[in-house]
Amino acid sequence: MSIDRLAIDTDPKAYVALHDLLDEPAADAMLTSREREIRATARDVVSREVAPRAADLDATHEFAHDSVQALAAAGLCGLIFPAHLGGTGDTNVSYAVAMEEISAGCAATSLVFMTQMHAAYPILIAGSDELQRRYIPGLLDGSRYGSLGITEPDAGSDVSGLTTTATLTDTGWSLSGQKTFITTGDRADVIICFATVDRSRGRDGITAFVVEGGWDGVEGGRPFHKMGMHGSSTAELFFDRAPIPRSNLLGEEGRGWSVVMSSVVKSRISAAAQGVGLARAAYARTLAALTALHGSRIPDEQTFALADLRGRILQGRLLLQAVARQVDTDPNITPGQIGVMKQSCTDLGFQTSVEAARILGPYGDLTHLGVERCLRDAKVTQIYDGTNEIQRLLIGRETTRAMKDLA
Ligand SMILES: Cc1cc2nc3c(=O)[nH]c(=O)nc-3n(C[C@H](O)[C@H](O)[C@H](O)COP(=O)(O)OP(=O)(O)OC[C@H]3O[C@@H](n4cnc5c(N)ncnc54)[C@H](O)[C@@H]3O)c2cc1C
Repeated sequence: MSIDRLAIDTDPKAYVALHDLLDEPAADAMLTSREREIRATARDVVSREVAPRAADLDATHEFAHDSVQALAAAGLCGLIFPAHLGGTGDTNVSYAVAMEEISAGCAATSLVFMTQMHAAYPILIAGSDELQRRYIPGLLDGSRYGSLGITEPDAGSDVSGLTTTATLTDTGWSLSGQKTFITTGDRADVIICFATVDRSRGRDGITAFVVEGGWDGVEGGRPFHKMGMHGSSTAELFFDRAPIPRSNLLGEEGRGWSVVMSSVVKSRISAAAQGVGLARAAYARTLAALTALHGSRIPDEQTFALADLRGRILQGRLLLQAVARQVDTDPNITPGQIGVMKQSCTDLGFQTSVEAARILGPYGDLTHLGVERCLRDAKVTQIYDGTNEIQRLLIGRETTRAMKDLA
């Protein structure tokens, strides 16, 4: 096909053939047959329902509603949740593999998809049976949108500095404050909101609540204009003495910090999988474009550069799968161990996209080839879910602590 009309992402057969070709036996050997089955399901639905819409969503900034609904209909939104709540009880590796597939097809869709999980997961680990039954099934079947509300104008990397405040009332709590940069915040039906019940208590005052977007005193702002991830929305959220019933306290008062810490384990798998998926997408699109330009005689310089990328992407895949497996099996996994995966895989996504654009020369600049979109989409994965500087800080602290113990 000529490069002007190259349209791998809109042809499901061509899409699946190309991505099947890029599977690596060394990484596949780490997966169970069920995990490979989930990947095949994800690749199939992505090829038909997600990838073909990606360029339009990027151009129009429309919300990826149809793509997310297709993923929910395929049963992919509840991978790590139990069957009685609408999930399939699969592994974190399954989730990572599905996220990688979705991100390779449309990163913006993957951002909305993962946020559904990020909103449902705190309810699973800290919510009462009643809260779980009331909110989780709707997030998994796509009938409700969810948000995770941590970041504030003056608190993100330093979560303990948050100032959104929950004040005890006769019927529950009154919530006041502001969140910012909240994914799906403009349309969320279910918001996991972290607030302080007493700022002087620092982390020990942080408390989590399940808040409905339609309640009095809760308002979403207009979505921000962003560099990438255009099919997802990111907005402010305002709480003005919003009454929260007692039953919507998530876990115990003052125990929100542990909910944050458990949640970021999952959200950092999501970001890491986006990094690997975007790296794969950049590589696949570059390979397809070079083949359209040169047939089977791709110049050596570009072949060598592709060889380097292939090795790095395989390393990223192996790291993602290995750490996700550790999450499945090791309850004592540390923030630094998670951080190694989050930082390396998201750096991989961005650096591979930059390199892919370089390899393509002027073609890297063409929108319809999708490499410049990878670059724009990948940047934010290094920023959210704990910036990569914060990951380095966590990794460094663990390393120096271990060396101190050795000394
Ligand atoms: C598209 C998008 C979607 C998002 N979605 C959500 C969401 O759904 N929910 C949510 O709660 N948040 C969300 N965020 C917010 C995001 O998680 C935070 O912006 C991010 O964690 C950084 O925190 P911050 O805003 O406080 O930045 P800052 O901490 O102000 O960071 C500014 C710079 O300083 C650096 N820095 C900060 N502290 C240190 C340190 N101690 N050592 C070295 N460097 C440091 C950072 O690495 C960064 O380079 C989203 C952000 C974006 C852009």
